[in-house]
Amino acid sequence: MILFPMELLIITAAALALGSFSTALIYRVPRNIPWAFGTSKKGEPTAGRSVCTSCKAVLSPLDLVPVFSWLFLRGKCRQCKTLIPARYPLTELGVVLACLGAYAVFGFNAYTFFIMAAIPFLMALLVIDLDHMILPNQLVFIVGLIGLGHLLFVFFSSSFTMDRFELVAMYVVAALFYAGLSWFLGWFLTKILKKDALGFGDVKFFAVAGLWLGLSNVAPFLILSGLLGIVFSVVWQKVKKEAVFPFGPALITSLYVVLLLRGSLLL
Ligand SMILES: [Zn+2]
Repeated sequence: MILFPMELLIITAAALALGSFSTALIYRVPRNIPWAFGTSKKGEPTAGRSVCTSCKAVLSPLDLVPVFSWLFLRGKCRQCKTLIPARYPLTELGVVLACLGAYAVFGFNAYTFFIMAAIPFLMALLVIDLDHMILPNQLVFIVGLIGLGHLLFVFFSSSFTMDRFELVAMYVVAALFYAGLSWFLGWFLTKILKKDALGFGDVKFFAVAGLWLGLSNVAPFLILSGLLGIVFSVVWQKVKKEAVFPFGPALITSLYVVLLLRGSLLL
């Protein structure tokens, strides 16, 4: 692992922008506010400029520097002084650390960029699941598309020696296998525990995880997400005093950790 200052600078700058994008997703997706382009049905608000969620003042570029603006403004809106929750800079920081983690493990290459492209969506899924107990379809779908993009990249990169058709087929089969397995686990646990154990959103996320991780990583992914799920459910019951807990955070963390541990197909 060798870190180059120039690369580190580029990765950090990109990661800060992705972190800011992720917080926009977290605010907008559950409220059905467009985040990429176009306007909502009522014509407002648009996917354009970011505004203060309290006083609707349009935020200047100085207010939008990830993490630093929040520190500089001491967590308050410049106009209306409404407190901006610490979760915004924390989410941005989480995205930055996740991106730096991918760079530290894989270096400055295409694989790191594919992972970095998925990170703001994964972080948004994690926080939205904590808030609303849903994994929005559009975000799960986009993480799947980026995974597919990664596969196509591997397929067309000539340096690869293994049978490319076989490789891509293996990952598509993995997606179906993960989905089938999680559906079965959900059905089985629901029978035993006599309550809903896995949501259908979780099943779709399993399919996407299969697309990223392939068949050979089924076991570590299942074991890690099971363990994290147990730890997380205990913490959730202590803090929130609710029996039902979102499984998404455990799944998302496991996907990221196993992605980093298993090494890259491209290297
Ligand atoms: Zn304000």
